[in-house]
Amino acid sequence: VSVLAGLAHRVASAAWRSASGLRTCTTTTPTYGRTSVYVKEALDLLDFDPQVEKAILNPDREVTVNLVVPMDNGEVNMFPAYRVQHNNALGPFKGGIIYHPGVTLENMRNLASLNTWKFSLLNVQFGGAKGGVGVDPRSLSERETEKLTRKYVQALQEVIGPHTDIPAPDINTDEHHMAWIFDQYSRLRGFAPAAVTGKPTWLHGIVGRDKAGGRGAAIATREFLTRSLRRKVAGTSFLIQGFGKLGSWTAQILQQEMGAKIVGVSCSETAVYNEEGLDIPALRAHVAAGGLLKDFPGGTGVLNDDSFLDLPADVFIPCAVDGTIHAGNVHRCVNFKAVVEAANGALTPEADAALRKAGVPVLPDLIANGGAVVVSFFEWVQNNQNMQWEEDDVKRELDRYLTDAFEALLREQSLHAGCSLRTAGYLVALRRLQQADSVRGHS
Ligand code: GLU
Repeated sequence: VSVLAGLAHRVASAAWRSASGLRTCTTTTPTYGRTSVYVKEALDLLDFDPQVEKAILNPDREVTVNLVVPMDNGEVNMFPAYRVQHNNALGPFKGGIIYHPGVTLENMRNLASLNTWKFSLLNVQFGGAKGGVGVDPRSLSERETEKLTRKYVQALQEVIGPHTDIPAPDINTDEHHMAWIFDQYSRLRGFAPAAVTGKPTWLHGIVGRDKAGGRGAAIATREFLTRSLRRKVAGTSFLIQGFGKLGSWTAQILQQEMGAKIVGVSCSETAVYNEEGLDIPALRAHVAAGGLLKDFPGGTGVLNDDSFLDLPADVFIPCAVDGTIHAGNVHRCVNFKAVVEAANGALTPEADAALRKAGVPVLPDLIANGGAVVVSFFEWVQNNQNMQWEEDDVKRELDRYLTDAFEALLREQSLHAGCSLRTAGYLVALRRLQQADSVRGHS
């Protein structure tokens, strides 16, 4: 008991020291999408058995563990870690791992459930899961991050695996973390590259995974514009919020491959605007060289606060964190001809309802954010096949999956007068899950 008490004291004092500012954290806490609001809306339009409804609204399994990690300075820290597995009627669980101080069991539940509906709509045969660790990753050294990641795998090895639950990168995790996960899982359970996706290309990863989120958002935008709004991407002007991996690739692919005019781009620090269109490859090079968006010579620096939303453009694409469009700023979005929700849960349900009321069409995250997971699915298939796909295969198949998903959305929307694309997406997803569930049986 005294050893444990001593450990608890050391953990508590280390946590206190980090809370008191020695290791500061300034990242904004995500608010996360409220998936069940949308699921319930769609359920109202379907004739579902109340027992099935209950099962669909609650996750199959939730695991909470405390990871005890020796720090570089000899102290021991403890981090809460989670894996929530929502529903595996369609196939093994799958979902990213978030490292963020704002991670809670509740937001893992929301995001695991969102994945179930997303995978179902995209026809990717997985069940929704999500994992995370309550930690400010910037407070850890690389060694500490590696230890934390290996501990996560060790603690969860019984519930993850290539045909059980396949993790992937997410907020603040990338191919390095996935390489450690692959290695640790293989040490514990035998060689298993299909146990995790988003690995480095040269370590059983897939080509084009980096750009997949952006490519997916661009393809989904193309389908949305041409088929729903009857306008071309070429000549349409776009405002893009967020210039990380997702935002910068979305902008570049829309511009270079589809002829879009990207007039404004923002990031968490600054923003830039040019009504004639920004040169996105040049802007990416400027940022890669350490430059701020506002100092880009090919545009005018502007504020990155809500006034960014007042800049004139046809289509707005939020590509930053979730909840950036909410009840307090959604009125600034009513002049856009359309909004593409490329970041998961970028619109709160209140903002979504306000845009619906104002008649602004929204392409939901279910499809607009689907690129990464579809390519993750290809990586998993590739690992199971023991072969390496070519980039052209990845591009062609990604296009096909997203085009088919958009077709399913449109078909469903046409069956219900006044139905939004979001509700149509949940309807398609729910129906497919119900079919799988009913043929699999319950006894
Ligand atoms: N971050 C993605 C998610 O959980 C990753 C999914 C994947 O690639 O498997 O939504």
